[in-house]
Amino acid sequence: MGKSVEKINLDSDLRRHLLFGTIGLVVAVLIIFINVTHDIASDLGESIESEHIEVQVNEIAKVVSSLVSTGQLASGQNGKIPYEYFASHHYFLDEDIILLNVLIADQTFTITGGHHFKNFPEIVKAVSEKKSVNGFTKINDDRIFWQYKYNDGDGTELVFARKVHALDRAISYMATRLSISAFVTFWLAVWAALIISTFITQRFIKGNIRLNYLANHDSLTHLPNRTYLYEIVNNYFKKNKQYPITKKASMLFIDLNKFKLINDTLGHHSGDALLVAIAARLKKFVTKTDYAFRYGGDEFIIWSENTEQAAAEVLAAEVIEVCRKPLTIQGSKFEVSVSIGIACYPEDGDNFNDIFKRADVAMYHAKQMRLGYQSYQKNLDIRSSLMVNLSGQLNHALINKQFIVFYQPKVNIADGKIFGVEALIRWQHPIEGLLTPNFFISLIEQSDFVHAFTRYVFKQAIAQCKNWCDSGYELSVAVNISPYNLLDEGLVTYLEKELKQHQVPADLIEIELTESATMVDIEVTKKLFKQFRALGVKLSIDDFGTGMSSLSYIKELDVDFIKIDRSFIINIAESNEDEAIVMSILLLCQKLNRDVIIEGIETKEQRDKLLSLGCKYAQGYYFGKPMLSQELTLLLGKPS
Ligand code: C2E
Ligand code: MG
Ligand code: MG
Repeated sequence: MGKSVEKINLDSDLRRHLLFGTIGLVVAVLIIFINVTHDIASDLGESIESEHIEVQVNEIAKVVSSLVSTGQLASGQNGKIPYEYFASHHYFLDEDIILLNVLIADQTFTITGGHHFKNFPEIVKAVSEKKSVNGFTKINDDRIFWQYKYNDGDGTELVFARKVHALDRAISYMATRLSISAFVTFWLAVWAALIISTFITQRFIKGNIRLNYLANHDSLTHLPNRTYLYEIVNNYFKKNKQYPITKKASMLFIDLNKFKLINDTLGHHSGDALLVAIAARLKKFVTKTDYAFRYGGDEFIIWSENTEQAAAEVLAAEVIEVCRKPLTIQGSKFEVSVSIGIACYPEDGDNFNDIFKRADVAMYHAKQMRLGYQSYQKNLDIRSSLMVNLSGQLNHALINKQFIVFYQPKVNIADGKIFGVEALIRWQHPIEGLLTPNFFISLIEQSDFVHAFTRYVFKQAIAQCKNWCDSGYELSVAVNISPYNLLDEGLVTYLEKELKQHQVPADLIEIELTESATMVDIEVTKKLFKQFRALGVKLSIDDFGTGMSSLSYIKELDVDFIKIDRSFIINIAESNEDEAIVMSILLLCQKLNRDVIIEGIETKEQRDKLLSLGCKYAQGYYFGKPMLSQELTLLLGKPS
């Protein structure tokens, strides 16, 4: 809004400047024009007038000479010469003659008008000094042209003056014509200025619209950008402050999960294509009161006016659902999951910064805990600042061996016998105490040493496996790898070397890859899995069914186990739906010849139910929590 006011000001300023500029220019040109024309008219008038008078004076001089030669005009005959002397000469009938003096041997004869030239000091001076023989002067309001003439033949002198008309007429004629043309020129100039300014304004408006669009939109996805977001949200708060009404609004901070992976594996082109596809999906949520923005990178915002928390959560669930639909980019299939943080006005803040920050904190929590979406709560702030602290300490923790591997048993459901363990990492933090992976795995995944970290876990797990082997326990040890590790080209060689060094049979080591690895190109995953298989290690798909499942992915990957996610087990004793899901996964795995491991059994009811459904293998607190290797050894009892 502020921008459009600026634009209007700019337009009216431009018009004003152009109009006044043109008027100024026209007036200046006209003044110069009038001056020049006036000078030309004056010069022209004067020259015509003086030519005309000169002819008249010459004629009069001839008459005076004949009067002198006939003795009618002689010195000593001082005074006025009767007008009748000249009556027959039409030159003397001119009413405009105001002075005609003849000087004969220092006597002056005043011939007409009764004026004596001595009353005109200016003329006397000019004549006596012989500076000029003619010139202009003024009597009352009349312009007078005077002429002095000396007659060589008889020595008479003549001083003549008459009112000037031709000059005034010329000037007044010019003035009339000039004022008409000045008026016309003036109006033409004003209209021209107005028309030009309209053209320029239109071009400016078009340019402004384009610039405005560029300034407020993201060039890749064409969604409004963060500048526009500030404007919309700040305007909303401003309006609400001016006219306080109990309105609500919600901000959804949307972040793609593991977007970096796509960029790293398939390149930026694919990353860009993915962002464009997601933006197109988000555009479907745009209404009169709901806006979608690309904030930057893989972060999007939905700003929903008149929406309170419950409705915002429904909206978030819809966004997750819509974004999750499979996408094909450059021939590769993707399932994109997003994490969404929600902050609401007025409870979480009444200004942009608070709402934005809190939506971000909530998003971060949703991502860490794999919740999909999360509404802001005060305690999340503490968690968020803890995360920031932790991310700065990861390197130090790795060097100082603060990461400790815990082991959780995997059992035969029927007899509870432990056949393997899963290595689960913990951070023994000097201040925060024992931290579970939710606090730091995603930090590690985003850091540079995600590969070093996984290799560290493998090393510990293989060493422990060797320990158990040496103690007479043949236990398989499963290690979780991050989808980012699929990009570690040296991982297979490293594993081979470690297995050799510790003399551990490869089939005692199992690799668990979570389903979110569907974000990685299937060809990359297939290639690495083949290498793992060639090495002899076992392979599992972890957290199966958590929404990222792609059946073709499962079909194409040659794995030994599929681990059904805990979320289907929690209500298995009561829920027919969960039972149906578990049954269908069991059937699928039977057909594909994969073994199934159930995750997260906590109660006897769950265990019994799953046993009755035909499940063979499981993991869960009911059988044993993650624990230190020594504790697990105790749990194993005597080796058989
Ligand atoms: P996961 O691989 O699915 O591991 C199982 C998680 O479920 C573990 O959480 C385990 O403690 C928990 N769990 C097992 N049984 C039960 C149960 O009966 N009830 C409940 N409520 N929870 C149960 P944990 O140790 O917090 O690990 C969380 C996730 O962190 C793991 O999920 C895995 O994806 C990741 N993770 C753990 N260690 C590593 C690691 O070394 N590298 C990588 N990349 N990821 C790891
Ligand atoms: Mg696992
Ligand atoms: Mg799992």
